[in-house]
Amino acid sequence: MSWQLPTTVEATLRLKADNPEATVVAGGTFLGILTRQGLLAAEDFISLQRVRELGQVTDAGDLALGAMVTHRRLETGEDVRAGWPGLAQAFGAVASPRVRNVATVGGVLADADYASDPPAMLIASGAAAEVASVRGVRRIPIAELIVGHYETTLAEDELITRVVVPRPTGPATYRKLRTRSQEDRPAVAVAAVRSEDTVRVVVGAVSDRPQHFADVCAGWRPGDEDSARDIGQAYAEQITYIDDNRGSAAYRRHVVGVEVRRALMAVSA
Ligand SMILES: Cc1cc2nc3c(=O)[nH]c(=O)nc-3n(C[C@H](O)[C@H](O)[C@H](O)COP(=O)(O)OP(=O)(O)OC[C@H]3O[C@@H](n4cnc5c(N)ncnc54)[C@H](O)[C@@H]3O)c2cc1C
Repeated sequence: MSWQLPTTVEATLRLKADNPEATVVAGGTFLGILTRQGLLAAEDFISLQRVRELGQVTDAGDLALGAMVTHRRLETGEDVRAGWPGLAQAFGAVASPRVRNVATVGGVLADADYASDPPAMLIASGAAAEVASVRGVRRIPIAELIVGHYETTLAEDELITRVVVPRPTGPATYRKLRTRSQEDRPAVAVAAVRSEDTVRVVVGAVSDRPQHFADVCAGWRPGDEDSARDIGQAYAEQITYIDDNRGSAAYRRHVVGVEVRRALMAVSA
């Protein structure tokens, strides 16, 4: 068994290239559960904890988040709350402060759990991930990074290094319906981000990956309750639902219609 602690991105990428099967450890919240349940048989680990450049947040128009930035930083940072309030709301809705203190931006995207909160808001915000390997760097919209439950387009030797979120020009909202406890993952999640008179609505936690229907959103009339209801109904009908212990497919279908309508009215103001 090996536990590597590189201090630079470059050194991390070299370690990953030499041993692509080594498991990258960020906050360790997801990996901890897998290990305790005996579901992870890894022998070699590369921890990102000492790679300082991955912990940086820079606001130069767009918001650039190092992969090791924690959920708590995004929830409480004054810079994020002022410029990207929808993002602060979505990261602040995850689990409990204990989890948010260690869980990271890179970790939640790489693990690609269908019932995570941040991906819906990141997609609605038009965010992209910067992904690096010894072969170079590429930029992938989050909508193309997550392709299924626990499934991403990352190659085995690639690392998420940064997530870039454009500055929103209009209001945003994140609505999370929990069905079991206050710290639960969502049964239904709706992120809506408005820009002028257009809106991007993304529904999470109901299917194998976040759901966005640009053609449906194109019919939106800000402030118009009927148009919000029609869009909610169209989302409800077009999604293929997961049935799990947080809610049946039929229940989720009903809730999506209601929550999409509410999200659209919230960003109408
Ligand atoms: C009790 C509990 C409750 C939770 N509730 C919620 C909730 O309500 N909503 C929600 O959204 N989430 C919830 N989560 C999930 C939690 O937010 C995720 O476990 C977390 O986001 C993963 O982040 P991490 O930094 O701990 O990742 P890790 O556990 O360290 O890693 C996760 C995966 O990503 C890979 N990885 C990590 N960083 C990178 C990188 N930079 N590049 C490439 N691969 C990488 C790892 O190899 C691993 O496969 C909960 C977790 C726990 C333990």
